[in-house]
Amino acid sequence: MATSSAGDSKSAVSNSRANLLGLGEQRLVEFFEALGEKKFRARQVMKWIHVRGVTDFNEMTDLSKPLRERLNQIAEVHLPEVVSRSDSKDGTIKWLIKTRGGSCVEAVYIPENGRGTLCVSSQIGCSLDCSFCATGKQGFNRDLDAAEIVGQVWIAVQALAPGRAHNDRAVTNVVLMGMGEPLLNFDNVVEAVNLMMHDCAYGYSKRRVTLSTAGVVPALNKLGDVTDVSLAVSLHAPNDALRNQLVPLNKKYPISALLDSARSYLEKLPDQRRKITIEYTLIDQVNDRQEHALELVELLSTTPCKINLIPFNPFPGSNYRRVSNNAMYRFRDILHEAGYTATVRTTRGDDIAAACGQLAGEVNDRTRRNERYRAESFDNLQVVNITPS
Ligand code: SAH
Repeated sequence: MATSSAGDSKSAVSNSRANLLGLGEQRLVEFFEALGEKKFRARQVMKWIHVRGVTDFNEMTDLSKPLRERLNQIAEVHLPEVVSRSDSKDGTIKWLIKTRGGSCVEAVYIPENGRGTLCVSSQIGCSLDCSFCATGKQGFNRDLDAAEIVGQVWIAVQALAPGRAHNDRAVTNVVLMGMGEPLLNFDNVVEAVNLMMHDCAYGYSKRRVTLSTAGVVPALNKLGDVTDVSLAVSLHAPNDALRNQLVPLNKKYPISALLDSARSYLEKLPDQRRKITIEYTLIDQVNDRQEHALELVELLSTTPCKINLIPFNPFPGSNYRRVSNNAMYRFRDILHEAGYTATVRTTRGDDIAAACGQLAGEVNDRTRRNERYRAESFDNLQVVNITPS
């Protein structure tokens, strides 16, 4: 699905050529029609790029020679550059990826019980500054464009299963849980996740692509109009007083507004069996007590959800401590006894600093820290085309 405003129109062009990597079907159709070509060229080119991993127009043999020559002049398939790859002893892989302008983001592949989950970044740094997250401490640099987001999937799929995205059993799931807040980069993220789910690209089902948000409510209210990706909400606290300390965005969009918006998202989906994933990072002595679990049981009673408990991963400069195993399993058992599905996310890839909240990349120009949060404020999102649900 395409969105009306071209979020990556300016950034899809490097060296003044159009970068076809991040364009979804609708945008590619527009691109080819402007060249006087038929619509179906869009799907042909998508398959070359995303399924077969081909970036050279000369190799796209079902395009006419004159069209290939024209494409060589005006377009490109430009991938962000892989700076390094780190392999953990547990099979986790982390890629450090350099983007236009020199800053780096990270993407992490986590193989587990027959699945392979790729965790991708949506922004360089993050403006939300959640108190327990390393990415926030890096500050905010800029949004990734759609090519830079989907490019992370291209890189992992081609590294693990070259030339056969559709038969790829390596990357089975994609989660937008890397660096950044996906809903603050709305158009580019929507374009990228819809490409991940497109049959002529990666073909992942909507259950296998998950967007995780700290709760940008106005953007969440319009998400269901443009995609049906799975949703995860980073809650981390059962009440506003505590959540305000952990996720400053909560002062703007408190829990009740966030859960209302998340439920509305589910209601828009045709399949009424779908659930939200609630993410809850457990921090020692902060949000891990029995009374917090009991409060959470009450809070979520009207929200179709499963709960993912994440032990806090320490990083340099943080004063928080990881939850104790006792407290973590007690917390989980309270949720189980109340009838919730609750899982504990095992820590993976900590020997290569690839665990949740440890992704820091290399953010140049950190001076823009919180720029978006302060200067534009989230009100802008409410002004721009928010469709009430
Ligand atoms: N901005 C989005 C996505 C990025 S964070 C969001 O907030 O959902 C992905 C998940 O990792 C979030 O649930 C986040 O709260 C969690 N996380 C961040 N730092 C962490 C840390 N140090 N330890 C454990 N989980 C962390």
